[in-house]
Amino acid sequence: MTRLAASALAALAFVAVGPARAEITEAELDRAASANIPQVIEWRRDFHQHPELGNSETRTAGIVAEHLKKLGIEVRTGVAHTGVVGILKGGKPGPVVALRADMDALPVTEAVDVPFKSKATSTYRGETVGVMHACGHDSHTAILMGTAQALASMRQELPGTVVFLFQPAEEGTPDGTRGGAWLMLKEGVFDLPRPDAAFGLHVFSTLNVGKIGYRSGPFMAAADRFRIVVKGEQTHGSRPWGGVDPIVAASQIVLGLQTLVSRQIDITRNPAVVSVGAIKGGIRNNIIPDSVEMIGTFRTFDPAVRQQIIDGITRTARDIAGASGATAEVEIGDDNYPVTVNDAKLTERMLPSLERAAGPGKVIEIPYVTGAEDFSFIGERVPSLFFFVGITPAGTDASRAPSNHSPKFYIDESGLELGLRAMLGVAVDFLQGAGT
Ligand SMILES: [Zn+2]
Ligand SMILES: [Zn+2]
Repeated sequence: MTRLAASALAALAFVAVGPARAEITEAELDRAASANIPQVIEWRRDFHQHPELGNSETRTAGIVAEHLKKLGIEVRTGVAHTGVVGILKGGKPGPVVALRADMDALPVTEAVDVPFKSKATSTYRGETVGVMHACGHDSHTAILMGTAQALASMRQELPGTVVFLFQPAEEGTPDGTRGGAWLMLKEGVFDLPRPDAAFGLHVFSTLNVGKIGYRSGPFMAAADRFRIVVKGEQTHGSRPWGGVDPIVAASQIVLGLQTLVSRQIDITRNPAVVSVGAIKGGIRNNIIPDSVEMIGTFRTFDPAVRQQIIDGITRTARDIAGASGATAEVEIGDDNYPVTVNDAKLTERMLPSLERAAGPGKVIEIPYVTGAEDFSFIGERVPSLFFFVGITPAGTDASRAPSNHSPKFYIDESGLELGLRAMLGVAVDFLQGAGT
């Protein structure tokens, strides 16, 4: 063995067993989180008071981009319309981690009486609507800005690269086209550099302040939308035999769709939901109309079940309509969100970081969530972990708190520091190779 090879081996052994990496310490992370949280809350209040709908987040994106530039982070703007990407290169070599926040608000009129209450309005699908951060994306953006500030302050010690994704339109685009995370990825945000892992968080009403919720493997549902148009033949309400009644056929279809989950899906494997959200047909009490339109959503956690439901909706609508001489056209939207899957290995590896941030017993494995997230597109590309942070006041029943998307959705800001500590913790621990 040459001396060179022997010393290389010694170095390898040192890396494998030695604790002596000049690491960013837990105390440093705690200090950074406490130092940055007041500003995170200030940013969050500002974003809350000035919410913007999907693909219109120009003010928010401007503030984010300005902030990242000030920190000396390389910035790309206008990604997927209004998205911002920051790249922070650490002073030491190491892996690449992506951290994601969403910036968009919802067409909801705020009903919470806070001093920074939103009075914003906008136009949505042709109507004037109130605009509110009713899903808490204001806090996600603020937390990631705080994370960027903390990481930039320790960049010399940071082994690797951090990609910050501030994405638009997580809630979908106003015109129903593909946007958000999907479009950012299509525009190549993961091409250079390519992340080895990605992390994202969501504030969630059903968890109390101080708690983190997660689930390994499939976590949040795939969401698909469908539209069914039942066509009959218009006639007088007094003479139904003179035409074909699409209202009765549509009613039977609604009930028939409920047998997909209750009678046709193996419910011991994965849950599924099929809901009709709107039925529109007719104009007058004594006219049986020509057609009825129905729209709805279905949620699944498995691609095979998803396909089974697509086939089931199509078959149920067509065959039930056909039984009464009507026809049914079925459209499945092409803008679905896939299942948000937490990579099992990465989840296991990062759990200690979450537990350290929250404290013992405060990180809980939660049941499947039938809500959907476009973070799922990120999870399809790189091993990812998405987790929930509690924001409902301690001591109150979180299961009864106004949910995300409610006009009464309320964030107890004392919960946000945990979000910052957790995001900072998983990012630094991942880069420093904790748990490997
Ligand atoms: Zn939402
Ligand atoms: Zn959301």
